Amino acid sequence: MKKLFIGGEWVAPAQADGIPVYFPATGESYDEIARGQASDIDSAVKAARAAVNGLWGKTTATERGRILMKIGESVLANQEELAGIEAKDTGKPLELARKDIQALARYFEFYGSAADKVHGQVIPYLSGYSVNIVRQPFGVVGHIIPWNYPAQMLGRTVAPALAMGNASVVKPAEDACMTSLRFAEIATDAGLPAGALNIVTGYGREAGAALSEHPDVNMITFTGSPQVGTTIQTAAAQNHVKCVLELGGKCPQLVFDDADLDKAIPVIVGAIVQNAGQTCSAGSRVLIQEGIFDEVLDRVAARFRELRVGGPDSAPDCGPIITHAQYGRVKQFIAECLDSGLQPVAEGSFAEGTAEGGYYVKPTLFGPVPRDHKLAREEVFGPVLAAIPFKDEDDAIAVANGTDYGLVASVWTENGARQHRIANRLEGGQVFINCYGAGGGVELPFGGVRKSGHGREKGFLALDEFSHTKTIVNHYQQ
Ligand code: ADP
Repeated sequence: MKKLFIGGEWVAPAQADGIPVYFPATGESYDEIARGQASDIDSAVKAARAAVNGLWGKTTATERGRILMKIGESVLANQEELAGIEAKDTGKPLELARKDIQALARYFEFYGSAADKVHGQVIPYLSGYSVNIVRQPFGVVGHIIPWNYPAQMLGRTVAPALAMGNASVVKPAEDACMTSLRFAEIATDAGLPAGALNIVTGYGREAGAALSEHPDVNMITFTGSPQVGTTIQTAAAQNHVKCVLELGGKCPQLVFDDADLDKAIPVIVGAIVQNAGQTCSAGSRVLIQEGIFDEVLDRVAARFRELRVGGPDSAPDCGPIITHAQYGRVKQFIAECLDSGLQPVAEGSFAEGTAEGGYYVKPTLFGPVPRDHKLAREEVFGPVLAAIPFKDEDDAIAVANGTDYGLVASVWTENGARQHRIANRLEGGQVFINCYGAGGGVELPFGGVRKSGHGREKGFLALDEFSHTKTIVNHYQQ
């Protein structure tokens, strides 16, 4: 059984029973992780606090940056090993796992090189006063992360926290945490002081809840479902600590009748199929202007029929769903769509040799989907695309903004003025014009509005999220 990583060491968990780890491509169990309890979380928070009060807290911004960049380098040097671990843990195609490991490295390079470029301000004030605004770390940050992009999520949330001088306690998802455990060793070998990064595996309702409720945690970041987001924000509120939440989406891709369809169609399909649709920012709705609806639907359908589903080594377009339970939820969602009278327009197929027992769902296209249908409004978190017709710009905006979510959107049109109008009116944290970026772009601030959450990760803005300002007023003798 894998142990916990606390204070720079492997530590046996308080509870002897572990949690089995499954290979989603076959459904077979191949390892066990520790089932962390509140007492393990408490040890990790104490180790993180000791790091903040000790060596890590005294490390200069430049030196922190150097260590982070070294971590990025070491991740790249171990890319094949880490990609193999990630692919086995999540079932995702090996090529996608490689990209995720590169993104993990990129987060550490980006925030490592940014660590000493966060400067303060001087404020002109009364005569005889000097006023400085400095940025300071919160202290101990609790990170509760999901299973869909375990490696990327680790980099996205931990690298900016460490860059600003915080110490991290990470509770990875119980369904995918093998990469984060190996990463902790790599980061320590690269020079990260003991206690700056601690990993406690376990269930959300046990280790996750203990972390979000811990009174000595100064900030919480969470990516996952809106329901759990509410629980975590409520726990954080009890201690009055800051919470950054990223909670999913039902992201629209708008196609106007002047769009370059040759360019658009493959991107539209890729935006939903990537990671088997298990992406908060998946483009799960394609909104198509009425005059070209049939043509676009036909062309998207043709592409869906070519899609192959399979295990990590079969170079598939789409891997399996992460767990048997999640697979059941996606199948159930599709069954409800069929029961409601929706007919699939097209489906992908299984790659040759796809193992029985794996959690595979064929990519499925539905359309036209009524705009008040469950499929047009709720997240499936599987490879299912809803095609919805619209009349004009106002109508497109009404449908696009008409769900509880607001995370990412794209618009396909060659009309420059329309690009600006639509981008201004779409609600969410990112808008892509004639392109799509689910999961990419370490440099690009990312986050949501409404039920997609609040706060911004990625880019320079994340450094503001993981620090607070302090205004220092000095009254000197003139
Ligand atoms: P999903 O529905 O995609 O599995 P969840 O929101 O359930 O996503 O899980 C995302 C992360 O939140 C995981 O690390 C999980 O263990 C954790 N989690 C789940 N429930 C809780 C909870 N009550 N308190 C804290 N963390 C939780």
